[in-house]
Order: sequence, then C-alpha cells, then structure tokens
Amino acid sequence: MNLDPNTLYNILMLAIVVALIVYLYLESRPRKPQREEYVTRVLLKCTSCGYRIERDFEAGDFIGLEKGKCPKCGGATKITGIYAVEKSKVLKPQ
Ligand SMILES: [Zn+2]
Repeated sequence: MNLDPNTLYNILMLAIVVALIVYLYLESRPRKPQREEYVTRVLLKCTSCGYRIERDFEAGDFIGLEKGKCPKCGGATKITGIYAVEKSKVLKPQ
C-alpha cells in the first residue's frame, strides 16, 4: 500500500488536533480541590485605646483611613493593615 503525501499530511494534522484537544481537556480540568482560598481582611485599630478589630476588606479601604468606631471606648478606628488570610483560618473560632 502506497500512501500519497496528502494522506500522510492529513493524518499528521489529525494527530496534532487530537493531541491539542486532549491537552486542552487536561488543562481545563479543575485543579486540586483542597486548594486554599484566600480572603482579604483589614485590621482596624482604635486611635484612643488601641483596641484592634479585624474585618472583611471593602472597596475603597486603604491604610490610614478612619473607619468605624471602637466598640470599647467609642473612639475612631483607623485601618492599620490590609492582608490576605486563608479562608479556613478566618472561619475558625479564636
Ligand atoms: Zn477604643
């Protein structure tokens, strides 16, 4: 049996397409399900008594912004830190 160059070329192209589909399928599969999720938190500190509170990050938050009131003395609280924490650690009771 003699294959002409056109048929060989078609077979080769088909093999490449199949390989590409398999590759894309493997790439699109969900990654390890136990991967940690992160949430952004802000640390608020009372300017009067130093009491610290941690909250979820909200749009527009930045370090130095005065936001909310201290539950202990009623003084203004200021954002002193913004950071990402593992979700499981936030939900864990302290
Ligand atoms: Zn306070």
